[in-house]
Amino acid sequence: MTTQLTCSKAVCVARNWRGHIRELGNETPQEPVFFIKPTSCLTPLEAPIRLPGYSHEVHYEVELALLVSKPLSNASLAEAREAVSAVAIALDLTARDIQTQLKAKGLPWEKAKCFDGALPLGPWIGLNQAGPLGDLELQLDQNGQRRQTGRIDGMIHQPFELLSEASRYFSFAPGDLLLCGTPEGVGPLQHGDLLSLSLSGRWTYQTRVL
Ligand code: ZN
Repeated sequence: MTTQLTCSKAVCVARNWRGHIRELGNETPQEPVFFIKPTSCLTPLEAPIRLPGYSHEVHYEVELALLVSKPLSNASLAEAREAVSAVAIALDLTARDIQTQLKAKGLPWEKAKCFDGALPLGPWIGLNQAGPLGDLELQLDQNGQRRQTGRIDGMIHQPFELLSEASRYFSFAPGDLLLCGTPEGVGPLQHGDLLSLSLSGRWTYQTRVL
């Protein structure tokens, strides 16, 4: 599925899977934690991944992305559901060493989350093709080893609930994205790595780290 929509931002969610919260030693938040990646992060999933020179520990995080195709603000759950036209598999690349330093000082995360190419995004899959979102499973393999798996219904906050909640704080324009957070198993990328990302084994994509 192709789209002519223009993206103005990608709203992302931190700490939406219990296993991932545990592995980073974080506390489970009372409400979703949002941050935004600018469009300069976007790159096709198949394009080779370039690691930023200022980090020694860039982590992969496989996530479900929603495509918002209607203007959305203060949306109900039903309005949020109606505004989403497609999903895709995405990577929320994170300079974990930088993020850890910033978190320790209580500083914003942009240097860790918003470098160029920090949001590799797969092709859009129409909602009617994808089926119920809760049944979808994210999978990420690194050099043939399974690193991450997570069914969407295992998330603390479900996709449309997240979108409704996020729209209380940020208006969504047609073309904007919501990334739903990552399951446990995140880890560092090395130069030359081959990543295979899959949604339920039905849609599979490969990418390489330069
Ligand atoms: Zn993430």
